[in-house]
Amino acid sequence: MVFHSLNEEDKATLGAMVSTDRFSTGSSNLDLHSRDMSRHRPRRPEAVIWPVDRKEVSHILKFAFEKNIPVTPWGAGTSLEGNPIPVEGGIVLNFNRMNRLLRLNKDDFQADLEPGMVYKELNRQLRHTGLFFPPDPGADATIGGMIANNASGTRTVRYGSTRNFIKRLVLVMANGEILEIGNRASKSSSGYDLINLFVGSEGTLGVVVEATVRLVGIPAEIACALATFKDPSSAAGAVFELMRSGIDPAALELLSTECIELINREKGLGLEELPTLFIELHGPTSSQLAGFMEIARELCQGEGCLGFRPGVERGERDRLFEARYALGETITQAHPGHRRITIDVAVPISAYPEMIGFAREAAAGVKEAVFYTFGHAGDGNIHLVFSAPARAEKVWDEIEEVNGKVVARALELGGTATGEHGVGIGKARFMPAEHGASLELMKQMKGLLDPKGILNPGKIFP
Ligand SMILES: Cc1cc2nc3c(=O)[nH]c(=O)nc-3n(C[C@H](O)[C@H](O)[C@H](O)COP(=O)(O)OP(=O)(O)OC[C@H]3O[C@@H](n4cnc5c(N)ncnc54)[C@H](O)[C@@H]3O)c2cc1C
Repeated sequence: MVFHSLNEEDKATLGAMVSTDRFSTGSSNLDLHSRDMSRHRPRRPEAVIWPVDRKEVSHILKFAFEKNIPVTPWGAGTSLEGNPIPVEGGIVLNFNRMNRLLRLNKDDFQADLEPGMVYKELNRQLRHTGLFFPPDPGADATIGGMIANNASGTRTVRYGSTRNFIKRLVLVMANGEILEIGNRASKSSSGYDLINLFVGSEGTLGVVVEATVRLVGIPAEIACALATFKDPSSAAGAVFELMRSGIDPAALELLSTECIELINREKGLGLEELPTLFIELHGPTSSQLAGFMEIARELCQGEGCLGFRPGVERGERDRLFEARYALGETITQAHPGHRRITIDVAVPISAYPEMIGFAREAAAGVKEAVFYTFGHAGDGNIHLVFSAPARAEKVWDEIEEVNGKVVARALELGGTATGEHGVGIGKARFMPAEHGASLELMKQMKGLLDPKGILNPGKIFP
């Protein structure tokens, strides 16, 4: 696909569509929108625009469509696979000025949001309503970016990923047309499920300008425990038992010994330095949760658990989860001069122990890199993070090889190349192996909805 580069006349036309402070071709703004949080090579857009309403988005896209100019939506740029990097240049649409809670419908547990709203801010605004929005990727992600990547987090094991919370979307399509999809009903059997097509499409099919999200009640009681094990595989075995027990954990996070050592050192947590499960339960009464915790203890002990500490108080729990959310950043800070890659795969829960064992063995073969394994274990999701000197090209080739092996094993086990970070640039090479003939159908859908291929080009498809 050959795209049109912005000339002075195009810049003047686009600049006139929005107020002057919301159009930029300045180098610092172009640099800020040239990279996400991944290792992928930066690429500057030619202009950045901050729209304030759907009409502006529609006008910009109509113009871009006529002229064949790439348009890449941008939330907070916290992606880990190059998802919002404008690899073909063109326009970046930054949604941080469209960040309002438009309507709160408490009686239906729903909220209408603009895409640039950061999910943490949504939960801050909801805090006195008794409701919350559960998907929690940890970083300061926006609703638009979470929808586009189908983000999830520590609480997905009980509540589901972003996909499970989207009722209705207002989209601006590649040609500038405004389209509303979905409805506000609790359930529906009406027609094709377009919501599920757009969630996870990484801004390649349409641009989200409004979303109706589902909310849930804040649990009356929360209980938290820490369980330690001799090795990650026995911890993973306990994950399997906990998931089939019916106690319905609200978080089930696995951190390997090197992660615990790191957060002890950097955050002063004083945890026992062994593979550890963070277990969180939500429920209506503390006595019910105490009973469930007892079951959790027995199941962990059945898998050779070395220590089980229930009753973790709120302050400590908050510090533990903060440390867990910040783990990626903590790894980066602990290794100055290094680059980092987060390999993210997910497998069926029965295959989780095997996947963990395989990933760690493969990683150990890269002698000149350090690695960490952790993940949203209850979802069968594993993150293998490598940190190695930025310029050690040979080491990075070995790491890429392990990346390929880990993804291939996840696929053999019936899993997926990406549990939550999306395909972006980094996982595109695995798409034929994962999707086979259905990748062609995806390409046809892309062609139908974005015939000129201007929306976030260079992503998902190899
Ligand atoms: C420290 C750290 C921890 C993380 N932990 C997790 C985790 O636990 N779980 C998880 O899922 N992710 C995690 N992530 C990854 C990241 O936070 C998520 O992928 C998040 O959804 C990205 O949101 P964003 O607002 O930053 O979007 P961006 O990175 O800006 O964009 C993401 C994608 O969305 C598209 N997009 C943005 N806005 C729109 C819109 N309005 N319409 C259409 N497309 C749009 C972009 O084009 C791009 O393809 C983590 C990242 C970091 C840095």
